[in-house]
Amino acid sequence: MKYEPTKLTKTKEIRTMTKSEEAVMYSEYHPKWSLIRRLILKRDKYCCAWCGAPQYAFIYRTGKNEDWEYAPEGHMVDEMHSFGYKVTKIILTIAHIDHNKDNNRFENLASLCQRCHLNHDRKQHAFNRKYGRNWKRNQTKLDL
Ligand SMILES: [Zn+2]
Repeated sequence: MKYEPTKLTKTKEIRTMTKSEEAVMYSEYHPKWSLIRRLILKRDKYCCAWCGAPQYAFIYRTGKNEDWEYAPEGHMVDEMHSFGYKVTKIILTIAHIDHNKDNNRFENLASLCQRCHLNHDRKQHAFNRKYGRNWKRNQTKLDL
């Protein structure tokens, strides 16, 4: 029988956004977006509007749903990880509930943690497929 090597799947090209791509991305947002963002964070008391995780808190998830607990104080992400806990630092971002970036009415905006935002935002998934899911992280790595 003739040996056929399995075709190697092409590894995804790691790339960062060009300046013009960034411009396109930001142009989707309201010109006063940074102010709107701050107001929404304040309204939501700097907590995820859905699961309640506070901004910049170190938490770990206790189940497949949105339950979470604070990571023990003084225990770092890597240390907890070695025991099988995935500790996340909460970074709140503003989501458009109806997925329409032109609809910046306050009731259409919500501060969401990473998990809730990903669960919500299917368009973001499409974006990730297009640009690579960690393009920001890759950019940081390349800058080192
Ligand atoms: Zn959340």
